Parts: sequence; structure tokens; C-alpha cells
Amino acid sequence: MSDVTLDIGAWIDLLPEPTLVMNAQGTIVAINSSGREFFGSSVLNRNLSELVATPPEKLNKWLPLWQQATQMVPGTLRGHQGQKIEVEAVGIHHCQPPLILLRLFRQPRFLRQFILQRQQFQQLQQQMARQTALIVELQQRQKQLEAENRHLQGVSQQDSLTKLANRRAFETCLRSAWRESATTYTPFAIVLLDIDHFKRYNDTYGHLAGDRALQRVAHAIKSQVREADLVARYGGEEFILLLRHTHHDVAICVLERIFNYIRSLGIPHASSPVQPYLTVSAGICIVTATPRDCPMAELVATADAALYEAKRSGRDRYVLQTHPRVPEPVSSSQQIQSCS
Ligand code: GH3
Ligand code: MG
Ligand code: MG
Repeated sequence: MSDVTLDIGAWIDLLPEPTLVMNAQGTIVAINSSGREFFGSSVLNRNLSELVATPPEKLNKWLPLWQQATQMVPGTLRGHQGQKIEVEAVGIHHCQPPLILLRLFRQPRFLRQFILQRQQFQQLQQQMARQTALIVELQQRQKQLEAENRHLQGVSQQDSLTKLANRRAFETCLRSAWRESATTYTPFAIVLLDIDHFKRYNDTYGHLAGDRALQRVAHAIKSQVREADLVARYGGEEFILLLRHTHHDVAICVLERIFNYIRSLGIPHASSPVQPYLTVSAGICIVTATPRDCPMAELVATADAALYEAKRSGRDRYVLQTHPRVPEPVSSSQQIQSCS
């Protein structure tokens, strides 16, 4: 065998079907292990015409055609038991003269096609299963991301100490309350509420006790408003409330409830010059919106001015102001006791 034939011999051994290489006269020069198994004996140097029952004149016609073929040419040989053997042949043109590669099929073409289709179908099924798994995984990941997003959004809108909404959440809510009020012509209230002499509280009881007092006051305020109202920590020991659809009398009623509840907690504040317990002061701004953009800073400044007035006039009280400002501020104090 030449080097080329040796190479081809090694190469065809990789093929699963019985495969042989022959010259233009039909003499077999290489065969793979599957081919040896197929013919059951040593066929090297024998002629194809000895191995099959196909008439030699037919083989002699086909051999030159196979030798010239540049693509696999299908054909049928006949075995010694009269059975059909489907084959494919092609010329090996890098040898001079070209050799012929002949591949034999154990199964008939329709069965091969059926097997091929079944394999393709199985591959398709596997692909679909992989894709379905991928989709499920992606959906799970998306749900996870949505949950993480919701969590992050919640965290970004929440004050970590009191678990109340934070200033940012308040601002969003205020814009929407303003728009709502402008359409429904109903007023709403903004309340700034500040713990009295809280610095002294910290100085007397320590910062940790201060934190706990902040949490208790936060909880107290939250417990006295409606579900639809917003209570936020505005910063430090200052809280801000947004009470929707709220006229003066309703605002006073809510503030009375909050004040009474905080007083009833009786959180000791020995260093307070106001009361021996923790008290708060508040500034209320009653707003009736107009179609203009929400003047956020203006509204908060109005509530702040009312809070300042409450502090200035002795603390442990609230002062009510309207927006836009009316010439005479309606001032309330702890004398306004209840609205029941
Ligand atoms: P006023 O009645 O005029 O409001 O007096 P005040 O002492 O409450 O007000 P001031 O602004 O002088 O002091 C506020 C204090 O609130 C000082 C600060 O240490 C305390 N504070 C702010 N945030 C926190 C907090 O998160 N935890 C604690 N423990 N204290 C806080
Ligand atoms: Mg204070
Ligand atoms: Mg303050």
C-alpha cells in the first residue's frame, strides 16, 4: 500500500459504515474495520466483482463514473444472497490516478432516513427541553429581580430607624396629593411635627434611648392616622404628615388624637422645661391646590413657619396655617382639646 492509501486506511477506519477504497479496476486497496466485519473475510487486493453478485459489465460501467465523481453518487449493488446493498461512491482526487471510496449501508435508504429523522426529532426535543428549562430559569430570575427591585424601592423610600416613609417618599406623595386636590377641589393637610427638647433628652438618657423614643413617637403618630395618610420621617426628630381630603377641623381632630396619645405614653423627660414627659410641637398647613405645579418648598415652609410659631409660643402645641396664607393665621394650642 502507498502512503496515501495508508492515510486513507486510517481515515476510513473512523467511519461507522462499511467503507472500502479501490482503484479504477475495482481492486480493493483499503477497508475499514466495519467493512471487514461486513464481508467477513480478508478482502484486501481482491476485486469488488468477487465480493458482490452485481454483473461485472455493470461494475465496469460504474467504476469510471465513480472515479470521476466529485460528490457522493448513490447506487445499488447486489449481494450473493440476492439482497440489495445500497452504496455511495466518490472519487478520491488527490491520488493519481484517482481512487474510489465506496460506502455501503447496512440499512435500506428509507430506514436510514427514518433513523436520521428520529435522531433529528430527538435532538429537537432535547433542544426544546433545554430552551424550556432556560425560559423557566429566566422567568425565575425575572421574578427574583422584580422582588429585589421591589425590596430596593421599598428600602429607598423607607427610614431605617423608624420604618416610616422617608422624605423622598413624602415628596412623591405630596406631588400626587397636590394634583388630586387641584382636580377635586378638596384641601389636604401637611403637618410638620417635632419632638420638643430632644437634644436634652439625648443628653439625659443617651442616644440609644433617644432612638427608642423616636421609634415610639413614630409608631404613635402612625397609629392615629388613616391608612391612606402618609407619615414620614423628615429628618432628625422631625416628622411630616400628609393627610388627604382634610379640612381644618379634621386636621385638628387628628392632631389632638396624636398629641393625646403621645402624652399618654408618658415617656419621661426629666430635663424638659415644658413637661416632665416627652412632648411634641406641630405646624399644620392646610392646602387647597390650584392648577399650577406643586410649590413643594412653599408648602413645607408654611408648615415650618407654623411649627416655629408653636415652638416660640411654648411648645407642646400645634399651630394651624392655611396655604395660600390668609392675613390672620388661625392659631390653635393645647386649649383646643377635642373634636369628638
Ligand atoms: P426643639 O424643642 O427646639 O426642637 O429642641 P431640640 O433639642 O429637639 O432641637 P435641636 O434641633 O436642638 O436638637 C435635635 C436633636 O435631635 C439633636 C440630635 O442629636 C437629635 N437627633 C436627631 N436625629 C436623631 C436620631 O436619629 N437619634 C437620636 N437619638 N437623636 C437624634
Ligand atoms: Mg426638636
Ligand atoms: Mg428639629
